[in-house]
Amino acid sequence: MASFNFSTWPPQLTPEQLEALTLTATTYALSHGLLYLPPSQSPSNTQPRIPTTAIHAPLSLIPAPFPRAQFQAARGLQSVYNVLYARIAMDTQFLDTVMGAEEGVGKADEFTGTLWRGWKNIREYGVVQPLHLGLFRSDYLLHAAEDRLALKQVEFNTISSSFGPLSERAAAMHRNILASTSYFSASPYLTADNFPENSTTSGLAEGLAKAHAAYGVQDARILFVVQPNERNVFDQRWLEYELLEKHQICVIRQTLADLAISASLDPSTHALTITHASPNPSPYEISAIYFRASYTPSDFPAPSYYDTRFLLERSRAIKCPSLPLQLAGGKKVQEALTRPGVLERFLSNEGAKWGTHALDLTAHATDIRATWMGMWALDSNDTDIVAALDHLQVPEQGNVPPGTRLARLKASSLVLKPQREGGGNNVYREAIPAFLDSLPAEEREAWIAMEMIETPRGVSGYLVRASPSSSDPNEGSTEKKVVRTEVISELGIFGYALFGAGEVVEREVGWLVRTKGTESNEGGVAAGFSVLDSVILV
Ligand code: ADP
Ligand code: MG
Repeated sequence: MASFNFSTWPPQLTPEQLEALTLTATTYALSHGLLYLPPSQSPSNTQPRIPTTAIHAPLSLIPAPFPRAQFQAARGLQSVYNVLYARIAMDTQFLDTVMGAEEGVGKADEFTGTLWRGWKNIREYGVVQPLHLGLFRSDYLLHAAEDRLALKQVEFNTISSSFGPLSERAAAMHRNILASTSYFSASPYLTADNFPENSTTSGLAEGLAKAHAAYGVQDARILFVVQPNERNVFDQRWLEYELLEKHQICVIRQTLADLAISASLDPSTHALTITHASPNPSPYEISAIYFRASYTPSDFPAPSYYDTRFLLERSRAIKCPSLPLQLAGGKKVQEALTRPGVLERFLSNEGAKWGTHALDLTAHATDIRATWMGMWALDSNDTDIVAALDHLQVPEQGNVPPGTRLARLKASSLVLKPQREGGGNNVYREAIPAFLDSLPAEEREAWIAMEMIETPRGVSGYLVRASPSSSDPNEGSTEKKVVRTEVISELGIFGYALFGAGEVVEREVGWLVRTKGTESNEGGVAAGFSVLDSVILV
C-alpha cells in the first residue's frame, strides 16, 4: 500500500453510519467499564462517594493512524526507559543537584523543594525499604520534520500514570466495532491486523504484584492513595480487581486525609499498618503503596498532609513511587538528561551500581536521544545557549540569562513548563513573551523551555463526548454527541520497574492513545479536552 496520507483521515461516513457506530461504541463502553463517575453535585472531602451512576469516558469512534515502525520503536525503547529512570531514582547526588532545595530546582519551586526536604530527612534517619516500584508512562507525539515522521517524547511520568486499564478497553472497543460493523468498509486500513493488542491492566497489576511478593507477607494489602472526589475511579478499580482475582491480593483505598488518622508505623519493624475504625477494626499490614494522589500541590491543602506523605515514605512498604522516583519524573530531570553526556553516563554499565541488566543499554543511547526535542532551562548560561544567541546576533540584555532570552526569541516554536504534573500548567508559543515579562527573576529556574513537537496537520477524528448526566436533555441525540474535528493524538507506553536491590525487574506492558482537538493545547483526558483512543497501524 502506498504511504499513508494523514490528511485523508478519517474516512467519510454517513450520518446514519456515524449514529450506528456511536451506538455500538457507547454501549460497549458502558457494558465494559470504560467509565467515569459523573461530575459530583456535592463534592465531599470526608465521605467516600457511593456511586449510583456512571458515564462512558469520552472516546474516539475510529482509531488514530500511527506509523507501525514508530509504534514498535516506542514499545521497544520502554525497557531502556524503565532502567534509565530506575537509575536516576538511585542517583542521590544527581537528584540533589537537579531537584534539590539547596542546589536544584527545589530552590525556586516550593512543592519540589518540600518533597525533596522530606526525602532528605528520611535519608538521614535511614531508609528501611531498599526497593522502589515505578509504574511508568512515556508519552510521545509524532513530529513532522523534513517530510518524515519522527517519534518525539512529550514527557516521562513516574507517578500516577493513569488510563492503563481504560485504554485497554478503548482498544477492545475499537476491535469490537471492527468485528461487528467492519466500519462499513470505509477504509482499507481498517483491518484486524492493524489493530494491535493491548493488555495494560494485567501488566500494571503484575508490577504491583511483584512488589507485594518482594515484601513477602502474602496477606498484607496494597494501599492505593487516592484523591477525594476522584472521577477516574474505574481506571483504578480495574487494577484492584485484577490484583484480587489474578493475584489474590486485597487493595485498600485511602485519601491522605484518611491516612492521617488510620496509618501508623511499627516502631521497631517500620511496618505500615492501617486501622479502620469500622467496619473492620483489625489493622492491615501494607506491602506496597500505589500513589494516585500526592503529585500536585492541591493534594496537600495543609502542612500536615506532607507529614502523612512522609510517614508513608518512612515505612517498610514498597512505594510506587518513592519520593526519589517521583522527583526523577520532574520536567527538570527530562531537561537535564538532554545535556551532553548525562544520558550516556546513566546508560553506561561501567560504574552503574543499580540495575545492571541483560539489555545492552549503551547501544540505545542514540535511539533514546533521537526521541527528544531541544530543551533548556530559563536560567541557563550553558555555552550552547550562549552560542545559539551569538549565532542569532542577539545583543546582551542587562542581566537576563541567556536561557530566557533564547526562549523569548524562539517563543513561536516553544512551550514553557513548570515542575508540575496533571495538565493545565504550560505556557505555549504566543503567550510566552508576556509570560516572561511577568515572571519574577527568582522563579526562572523553576521553568524549562521545550521545542514544540509539530504533529501532522489535517488529520481529523470523530470524538464522542460523555453525557454530563443522565438528566441531560440531549441524551440519545447522537448528532450532538459526535464531533468531527481536526485532532492531535498522543501515544503513551506503559512499563514497570521494581528496583533498588540487584537487577532491575522491568517490562513494557502496553499503550494508550489520547486524542484531542487541535484547538486545545493540553492533553488531560479527565479535564474534558480529549478522548480515549487507540491506534490503527499504518
Ligand atoms: P503534564 O505533566 O501537565 O501532563 P505535559 O508535559 O505532558 O505536562 O504537557 C501537557 C500537554 O501539552 C501534552 O499532553 C501535550 O499535548 C502538550 N505538549 C507538551 N509538550 C509539548 C511539546 N513539546 N510539543 C507539543 N505539545 C506539547
Ligand atoms: Mg502529560
